[in-house]
Amino acid sequence: MTGIFDDLNDYGHEQVSFFHDEETGLRAIIGVHSTVLGPALGGCRMWKYADDQEALRDVLRLSRGMTYKAAVAGLNLGGGKAVVIGDSRQDKTPELMKAFGRAVDAMGGRYITAEDVGMTVSDIDTIRTVTSHAVGGSNEGGSGDPSVMTAFGVFQGMKAALKASGLGEKLEGVRVAVQGVGNVGYHLCSYLSAAGAKLIITDIYPNQVEKVEAEFGAEVVSPDQIYSADCEIFAPCALGAILNSRTIPQLKCKIVAGSANNQLEKDEDGFTLFSKGIIYAPDYAINSGGLINVAAELDGYNHEKVLAKVTRVYDTIKAILERSEAEHMPPHQAADALAQQRLNEARKDQSKSKRTGFRSNFMTVDKVMGDLAVASLN
Ligand code: NAD
Repeated sequence: MTGIFDDLNDYGHEQVSFFHDEETGLRAIIGVHSTVLGPALGGCRMWKYADDQEALRDVLRLSRGMTYKAAVAGLNLGGGKAVVIGDSRQDKTPELMKAFGRAVDAMGGRYITAEDVGMTVSDIDTIRTVTSHAVGGSNEGGSGDPSVMTAFGVFQGMKAALKASGLGEKLEGVRVAVQGVGNVGYHLCSYLSAAGAKLIITDIYPNQVEKVEAEFGAEVVSPDQIYSADCEIFAPCALGAILNSRTIPQLKCKIVAGSANNQLEKDEDGFTLFSKGIIYAPDYAINSGGLINVAAELDGYNHEKVLAKVTRVYDTIKAILERSEAEHMPPHQAADALAQQRLNEARKDQSKSKRTGFRSNFMTVDKVMGDLAVASLN
């Protein structure tokens, strides 16, 4: 039997903290995977986990993903995530949210929270009444719902993938199959429609489908049919683990580029896509627009600057796909290599500062984007 420290070792975590509040019934876990690049920022997920072990595994997996996402996005942030155990529709109260906020506050700024599944902008507003270490609220300085910027980043990354596939860069006339037209999927359809793309959509909620069909003239298919849709791009914007041994053989697309987290069921599914010649835009690299958006609150939110930074998701995906081609490795591995490269350089800088007694700042975004550009030339 493996223990908690074995898990921390396997995932490479710095810290995992458990919080309990008798009065509100709060049971929360905060995972700080890495603070090498800066304080650990990542959303809080409220979910009815089958047991504590499942909740722990989720927080470990998600917080590690945030380290990679921030690193590749060029942000001076580490990776963290929180889970609150419970049903968000039944168990959530303002008191519970405040108790969670106090837990975040107790982390002293090593962890900064935001919204994730089961949490809303108004929950962040409540949390912010007890801690300043929360972003994504609607109150003063808050950036609100991040899904528009996530969609904008996916749209940029899609253009880079399209260019890499040899189909040019223009989305006009390109057929895009969007799985899930919720928050991100809806905004993505809006960008794609404005660019002249032909939309094929699906969702399990008829209301969502009807809205996108009416607004953007999308063709609707059933959830099962989306994988085999005749299209150039498949955009998963619903669930994780949808790229697997059952779905990949059905794909007719040239590119997979969407917002969903953890799209590959297994690492080997990334290799299968690569061997079939399907270009995969790695999920955590293409869906970083929302993180870039909330992170901007820490420096005083400026929408124009955010737009400029999210536009650079194009450069990130371009660099990843160029490295993938140059080194004959699947894009998901090329993305991991770029993230690792940045983390290793920051670790080296930090140990150098420790030796010399000089405390340098974390690498700047410009330096990182420079590295990505250099990586793309190598
Ligand atoms: P959402 O819940 O608003 O939308 C998801 C949509 O997918 C819903 O309309 C849902 O009905 C639909 N769906 C669920 N199961 C489906 C299925 N089997 N087939 C077809 N449709 C299905 O969520 P969202 O905020 O739009 O996020 C979408 C994905 O992007 C998630 O995986 C999320 O983790 C990821 N993501 C979101 C953001 C963000 O800013 N919201 C940022 C990064 C990553």
